[in-house]
Amino acid sequence: MSAAEKAAVKPAVPFLKWAEDGSPYLAGSKCGKCGEVYVGTRTVCGKCTARDAMKPVMLANTGRLYNYTVVHRNFPGVPVPFISVIVDLDGGGTVKGNLLDVEPDPAKIKFDMPVKVVFRDAGRKDKEGNSYLAYFFVPANNA
Ligand SMILES: [Zn+2]
Repeated sequence: MSAAEKAAVKPAVPFLKWAEDGSPYLAGSKCGKCGEVYVGTRTVCGKCTARDAMKPVMLANTGRLYNYTVVHRNFPGVPVPFISVIVDLDGGGTVKGNLLDVEPDPAKIKFDMPVKVVFRDAGRKDKEGNSYLAYFFVPANNA
């Protein structure tokens, strides 16, 4: 992604960031005392209660499906059904998102299935015309 393209694309969530090479990643915090990893920025560790020991880390783009819900009703204008999931990322951090490229059928979704993080356009623009990059999950065996 070029610098010009990056200027017109904003992150859909505060913990979606771009690396030096322009590739997007999910940002987290790792406790310097106990090693617990969290999504986004933290100042206090929820596990060991250490203060100001958090270091910013890049979260893994792979993980396993912890839980899911097939959503059939949502706000007007949001296409349904879709699969809302909670994923435990490899190396730490638990994040909620949507699972794509899978039929929204419980028979096709497995707990603990390997997934990977993909970054795609969120599908909407704001009133200034900015588009937003969002993260999603896909089965790890898909491209
Ligand atoms: Zn800690």
